[in-house]
Amino acid sequence: MATITTRRLDNEKDSHMKSAFCAACGACAYLSGNPSAHMEPSRDGPRPFVPNTEQGILDRSACPGIGIDYPRLYSAHYGRHPESWLTGIIMKVRTGYASDSAIRLAGASGGVITRVLQYLLETGRIDGAVVAKQGVPSAMKASAFIATTPQEVLDCAGSVYIQVPMIPALARFEPGKRYAFVGTPEQTAALRELQRRGDARARQVEFVLGPYTGTALSPRALEYYLRSNHVGKNDVVTSVRWRAGKWPGHLEIRTASGIVLQSPKVYYNFLIPFFVTETSLLSRDFCNEFADLAVGDAWSPKFENAGEGGVSVVVTRTPEMEAIVSEMSDKGLLTLEEADPAKAGDMHGHMLDFKKRGGYLRGRMRRFFGRPAPDYGYRPAKIALSRRLVEGVISSVFFLCRTAPARWVVCRIPERILGPLFNWIRLRWKAVSRPTKRKGLAKYDVIITSAAVDNSRIEPSALK
Ligand SMILES: Cc1cc2nc3c(=O)[nH]c(=O)nc-3n(C[C@H](O)[C@H](O)[C@H](O)COP(=O)(O)OP(=O)(O)OC[C@H]3O[C@@H](n4cnc5c(N)ncnc54)[C@H](O)[C@@H]3O)c2cc1C
Repeated sequence: MATITTRRLDNEKDSHMKSAFCAACGACAYLSGNPSAHMEPSRDGPRPFVPNTEQGILDRSACPGIGIDYPRLYSAHYGRHPESWLTGIIMKVRTGYASDSAIRLAGASGGVITRVLQYLLETGRIDGAVVAKQGVPSAMKASAFIATTPQEVLDCAGSVYIQVPMIPALARFEPGKRYAFVGTPEQTAALRELQRRGDARARQVEFVLGPYTGTALSPRALEYYLRSNHVGKNDVVTSVRWRAGKWPGHLEIRTASGIVLQSPKVYYNFLIPFFVTETSLLSRDFCNEFADLAVGDAWSPKFENAGEGGVSVVVTRTPEMEAIVSEMSDKGLLTLEEADPAKAGDMHGHMLDFKKRGGYLRGRMRRFFGRPAPDYGYRPAKIALSRRLVEGVISSVFFLCRTAPARWVVCRIPERILGPLFNWIRLRWKAVSRPTKRKGLAKYDVIITSAAVDNSRIEPSALK
């Protein structure tokens, strides 16, 4: 088990109790020292479960829900702070895709993560890769899976837009073997925190890869989506694919009675305001700052209208990963073109602002109302009044949409109306808010607050 030393705090007095919400990474279950601890599925996403015994205490010493101290982790992991707190430390930015068209098509954007994982296995650099697999243990759920062959990696290609607890997979590592780990930003930061603290299994991870992560959905989104499409409760779902078909892909759900629901990605995005996870709203990391290789969709008219298939933005953060990606490019396994980091960053300006300024403002707002919010050890140096006002609109929309009556209503509007309508509103809103959301973003200065997050152990019932 994990070798981290922990202490049990007096829950009544522990200030961390007030700052506990769950990012569903599973680090606490992994660290609890109790073999029965696990992540239990719920309608709001996976939550830690520890049997009610003396050992029934969650170890949240690497918990992104409390907030991982990013400045400290940067110093420990990279030996320095990033020049840009927007995108993190960058060796090179490229745009491109896996040269093998089947892998490119299977991937969420360009299949780059899948191809790199396969290459790490093929070249003997790793023995296994921790990836997310939709359909395990049942079609509507997703779990961490340790792939040991290129085919198994390919079978797990694509994005899963519900939370998947990835950290507990570390408990299944075999001694002496080396692994790659794929995770969302909270998970990769938690993994690095475990490595920083000397966790033996976390240190078996040689390479960390991760998607840029904007928003994930609560599992309720799928339930509502099925109801809104009049799928009966007894009609069992047999498969869910979030980005089936040609980029940007569509949600595809199949049921036992033969129903096949398909919804283009830009349409089913209407589920986001109604079912977005708390983690998505509070996280400050969009670009997966602690992944050696971070990959996002290349949202740009140049690629979106080319109609040739998915294209990824590919960021290397360490010399080792840079050497591997460049080797793969030289061998023709990846088709890549170097990009100007500023221009590449512009493709994701909206989401960078959503996380880096919006995430901070939403966290402050939650604390104001006495609700838990993570502390990442830094804050934006300045946020203009206009941006704060825009946040008022954004947060109000999220607040209203996530209420039970709003969800009830949305479930009754046909998707053929809601999808295009939402897409139209989204594009108009992006155009209107663009000047405010982009203003000052290029010069995103931060103030380090480093509220040393301490080892802490708390009762599972304290999780919000
Ligand atoms: C929840 C979520 C939100 C995202 N939001 C954005 C966004 O706003 N903007 C943007 O540009 N890109 C976003 N992405 C990233 C994008 O969807 C692609 O994952 C990324 O471009 C990598 O593409 P790829 O083809 O190289 O990956 P692939 O080759 O398809 O490989 C993806 C790998 O990630 C693993 N994986 C998938 N989902 C998860 C998960 N939930 N947790 C852990 N591992 C997972 C898979 O098992 C697979 O190994 C998001 C991804 C996720 C999972």
